[in-house]
This record gives sequence, C-alpha cells and structure tokens, in this order.
Amino acid sequence: MKAVQIAAFGGAEALGLSDADMPSPGPGEVLVRLACAGVNFIDVYMRSGVYARSDTYKTPLPMTIGMEGAGIVEAVGEGVHDWTPGARVAYCLSRGSYAEYAVVPAWRLVPVPDAVSFEQAAALMLQGSTAHYLSHSAYPLQPGDACLIHAGAGGVGQILIQLAKLRGATVIATVGSAEKAAIAKARGADHTILYREEDFAARVREVTDGAGVHVAYDSVGKDTIHKSIRSVRRRGLCILFGASSGVVPSIEPIELAEAGSVFFTRPHLADYMADAGEIRGRASDLFAAVEAGRLDPVIQQALPLKDAAEAHRMLEGRQTRGKLVLAVA
Ligand code: NDP
Repeated sequence: MKAVQIAAFGGAEALGLSDADMPSPGPGEVLVRLACAGVNFIDVYMRSGVYARSDTYKTPLPMTIGMEGAGIVEAVGEGVHDWTPGARVAYCLSRGSYAEYAVVPAWRLVPVPDAVSFEQAAALMLQGSTAHYLSHSAYPLQPGDACLIHAGAGGVGQILIQLAKLRGATVIATVGSAEKAAIAKARGADHTILYREEDFAARVREVTDGAGVHVAYDSVGKDTIHKSIRSVRRRGLCILFGASSGVVPSIEPIELAEAGSVFFTRPHLADYMADAGEIRGRASDLFAAVEAGRLDPVIQQALPLKDAAEAHRMLEGRQTRGKLVLAVA
C-alpha cells in the first residue's frame, strides 16, 4: 500500500509517498480502508520530533504520519465483535492515517452516520473533540461566561467558537489578520482582536469592563501565554493546550497569584478521550450538531495524499482557514 512515512524527524520536505507493508489487525484491532486523513498540528509535532520524549504520544521511527482518519472497516482482528467489514467509521489518536490502510484499536472507532461525509468526520474527530472537551469538560462553559480563543480562524479555533456560542458564552477571538477576523466573526465571535498588532490582554479588559474572561483557551503558547494568564478574571482558568508559536518552557506560580489567583492547566486530548464511551459521546454530540445544521466543520481543502508536505507547509505557515484533509481514496 501507499503511505506517507518518515525515517528521521525533520521538515515537511521529508513527507513523500512511499510503498509500505500492508498492516494486519491483531487482537482487539480493526483494519480501516481510509477515505481521508485529517491534517493536524500534532502531525507537525510528530514529524519534527517535538513529541520524541512524550509518553502519551510515542513517535517510533520509521513512522507513518497522521493521527486522524475516516473510512470503511476492511477486516477485524481476534476478539472484535462490535465492528463488521463495510461499516463507516472514524477515529483519532491512533498513528498512521496518511496511508491507504491503517490498523486502529477497536475502542477508538466511532460510527459515522450516513449524513456526515468522511471529510467532515475526519475534520471533527481530532479538532472537534478537542473543541468539545475544552468547552464541555476542561471548562464547561455556561451562558453568560466570557472566553478568549486564540487563533480563532484556525481548525480548532473555528469549531471552538461555534461550540462556545452554542453554550451561550461571549467569545473574544484573536486572529493574525483582518481576513481571519472576518472568518472568526462569521463563526460567531462577538469580538475579534488582531493580536499581532494590538495588546490583546488590554483589549480583553476593555471588552469585559475590566473583569477579564472566565476562561482563556491558548493554543498559540510561547508568544501569548503570559498575556493569556493576565486576560483571565480573578479565580478564572487559563488552559494552555498547544504550541503553535513554540513550546512554553515554564510558568512561575507567582504569575498565577498576581493575575488574580488564576487556575492553570495544560491538558492532552488523550486524557479527555480516555475510553470508548467518552470518545463516542463527544463524536455523537458533534455529528448530531452537524446533522442539525448547528455546526459547520469548515473543510478548507482536500489535497491528495501525495501532497502531505504541502498541507504541512500551509499549517505551519499560518495559511489554514479551516480543516485540511488528505483524500486517500
Ligand atoms: P490551526 O489551524 O489553529 O493553525 C495554527 C494557527 O496558530 C495559525 O493559523 C496561526 O493563526 C496561529 N499561530 C500563531 N503563531 C503561530 C506561529 N508562530 N506559527 C504558526 N501558527 C501560529 O491548527 P490546529 O487547529 O490544527 O491546532 C491548533 C492548536 O491546538 C495547535 O497548537 C495544536 O497543537 C493544539 N491542539 C492541542 C490539543 C490538546 O488536546 N492539547 C489537541 C488538538 C490540537 P493566526 O494567523 O490567526 O495567528
């Protein structure tokens, strides 16, 4: 089969199609014939070695890239009784989706309703589940809450804005350009801030009458985290969940005290997708919202699998305006 593999950590140029051995499902596993793979920032971290020492996301070399996919069950391994060949499925957090076939632990799969396309399913499993756990679990937004969402025109950002609005929150979104501000607004953001030009912490105080937000969702990391902490109201929560601008090396505890006894967390999606029930619960909420017309997964572009390197360049080069997927079949 064809797959996008790397032999060493490095830049996007290493991503090319190669021949790989067809995987076969072991006990508790399912072989999925992929229709499309989702492209995510975690793929960039895995390709470049950011997670080389992570216990949660292991990155053994050589490695097939891709942590999200949708397609058809081709075969099941020993002991798998809840899936049969031909079922429409999607998943995330299992390696190797930039390929024609992938072996996935059965408990990670969710059924995809007929009304949801494979592209939409692949767009929602990782970024959608992330937006879902951030807005429903890590900080369950309530009507009247104010939240700050960085990179509001990005993949996670656009879904998070929509879910936050469905929960009745006021959304302040930061974005890198005026064009992206229009996108965040179209998704429902109440306020947008051009954070490369303006002091976003000052603007957040201004639009919240000096109080700050109940929760800051920070995926940008190094460039924004200190101001994100200072944008949160007394005893509010700052959630650092990404490193698009670089990894945050450390936070001084006193910084949290001085910002108003702010709480701080740095979650992994895997800890909020801990078992089959949690994974299926989030996916069925997201798919139902799509079917009801309340959530738009915003597919920016479907590129052929052979163009994986181009997809990574777009993601790293701040060119995404929604979800990139790789069409496999
Ligand atoms: P995005 O589509 O959001 O792309 C990243 C965006 O970050 C860019 O478009 C850009 O938006 C902004 N950005 C700011 N500074 C930089 C920089 N120096 N280089 C590149 N981009 C920058 O990506 P995803 O939706 O795929 O992922 C968003 C984040 O969420 C990632 O950091 C990812 O790691 C994280 N994540 C975390 C998870 C978790 O559970 N912890 C799970 C899933 C994703 P702009 O131009 O508007 O500034």
